[in-house]
Amino acid sequence: MKIFSELMWFFKQEKKAYLRGVFVLLIVAVLQVIPPRIVGIVIDEIDKNTLTGRQLLGWIAVLVLAALSMYVLRFVWRVSIFGSSNKLARLTRSRLFEHFTNLPMSFYQRKRTGDLMAHATNDIQAIQQTAGFGVLSLFDSLSQGTIVIIAMLLINWKLAIIVLLPLPIMAILANFYGGMLFKSFHLAQEAFSNMNDRTHESINGVKVIKSFGQEKEEIAAFIKQAEDVTAKNYTVARIDGLFDPTISMISGICFLLSFGFGGYYVTQNVITIGALISFTTYLGLLIWPMLAFGFLFNVVERGSASYSRIKTLLAEEVEIADEMDVINATPSGDLHFMIDSFTYPNETIPVLKNVHFHINKGETLGVVGKTGAGKSTLLKLLVRAFDLTDGNIIFGDHRITRFKLSNLRKSVGYVPQDNFLFSTTIRENIAFAKTDLALEAVMEAATLANIHRDIEEFSDGYETIVGERGVALSGGQKQRIAIARALLLNTEVLILDDSLSAVDAKTEEIIISNLRQNRLDKTTIITSHRLSAVKHSQQIIVFDEGEIAQIGTHEELMRQQGWYKEMYLKQQLEESIDQDVLTQDMNIDYTK
Ligand code: ADP
Repeated sequence: MKIFSELMWFFKQEKKAYLRGVFVLLIVAVLQVIPPRIVGIVIDEIDKNTLTGRQLLGWIAVLVLAALSMYVLRFVWRVSIFGSSNKLARLTRSRLFEHFTNLPMSFYQRKRTGDLMAHATNDIQAIQQTAGFGVLSLFDSLSQGTIVIIAMLLINWKLAIIVLLPLPIMAILANFYGGMLFKSFHLAQEAFSNMNDRTHESINGVKVIKSFGQEKEEIAAFIKQAEDVTAKNYTVARIDGLFDPTISMISGICFLLSFGFGGYYVTQNVITIGALISFTTYLGLLIWPMLAFGFLFNVVERGSASYSRIKTLLAEEVEIADEMDVINATPSGDLHFMIDSFTYPNETIPVLKNVHFHINKGETLGVVGKTGAGKSTLLKLLVRAFDLTDGNIIFGDHRITRFKLSNLRKSVGYVPQDNFLFSTTIRENIAFAKTDLALEAVMEAATLANIHRDIEEFSDGYETIVGERGVALSGGQKQRIAIARALLLNTEVLILDDSLSAVDAKTEEIIISNLRQNRLDKTTIITSHRLSAVKHSQQIIVFDEGEIAQIGTHEELMRQQGWYKEMYLKQQLEESIDQDVLTQDMNIDYTK
């Protein structure tokens, strides 16, 4: 029951609603014992032949009044208690979501998306149940149970004790079966979500599956998982199947005792026939509180497990946070990289060493080098995906950590290689960070990213839905949409992190030339495997194993012996061979 004290902050916050709910529950419990008693009295009057029409009408009026009041009051407690528990769910859900959005990349590297989704749904639901159904069960079983038992004791205490003996067994069994049911239900849900994960992955990876001829294996693996889901749901059904008959049997025993002993008492004139009828009706009213009492423990147990999981998540540190005394300026100006060394959290070997250089405002920097040389890491440090421990990056007049994180990120547009498009329209994907912009501005950005023509060719143009529910875009088209998205913001610094890898050389040239014309006074950083993408940069850095191996303009680097010149010549050669193949292809007369 610790969970109730842990949730006390919320109950206090919603004090009025909960007090109202619990108070109304209590009134309903009292009202509930009235109708059975009236029925008993009326039957006794009939039995004695003393019932008049007026009396009967009077009793009926009381019954109707009690029924109407309960109707209204039950509505009130439901709204008060369940409505409040919904608020708790909303509050926890938004807290968690906000926390998720602030957590660093490293967190998402550690956690599986499926798990996080489960926390955001199942755990929150369990907490909501505790604050709703849990509170209801606690007070309802206590109030209704106590009042009905008192009413029964008042009719005949001996009969009450005999008849009530089996009821605690019902509460114990409800708790026991409830626990088993919960466990097996949980396993069934887990199996179902595993199957879902697999389906999702198989559909996403269907191209790979087909190209490796793995269809049969995939189908076999899927069938196995589907069978697992069935087996686990079967267990749930079996426990469920045991539960209902058991409860019916125990309540049946209670009724049997009631009729047996009660009938005997009636013949002995200890109680009247009307009193016995009221008594047995009360017995029916006791079944629910007993069940609720049994369920209560399960609900509470689940709730506290979920609450502690959510608390652990909320306690995850937001590694990158604003400093205490941030300035409210917009970052702008030259960039000075003074990185002595950088090691990823939980790693031991530094991935960047002694990286010192600067970029004047408005210049374009090219960053090249082998895969794994540290290019992306350098850029991630600039947007503070990770924080530097050994060194500084200065933006304008300040260290980047001095700016508000939100301001810094608004000043630096980042287009990663594996960009993400949402399942919405192309227009909304481009205007992602500026939803209120006119279509003309979106078109302008798309034109700069050389994707406008492609979009116009889609049947719904800019309103075409992207992804699973709509058009399948090529890798190059996706990249260009992501570039348009970043260009629209016209940020102080634009980073293209190998984000031209899937476009052809010609398109790349057009985009680079558009960028040069449009971002004259703005800084641009381009990393690329294709050196033609950085050729025109005012400065090119060649990375090798986390260190600057070469630095200079294209011309300067071409005069040096080194990786850059070697690679450039190699790529040129490859391109001219490709061109030759293409022209030869065109010259072949296929009619022969
Ligand atoms: P590049 O962009 O030049 O291909 P990266 O900057 O992505 O290189 O990677 C540089 C090195 O850092 C690689 O050895 C890579 O494995 C490592 N690395 C990249 N990201 C992480 C991370 N989040 N945690 C630990 N190591 C990482």
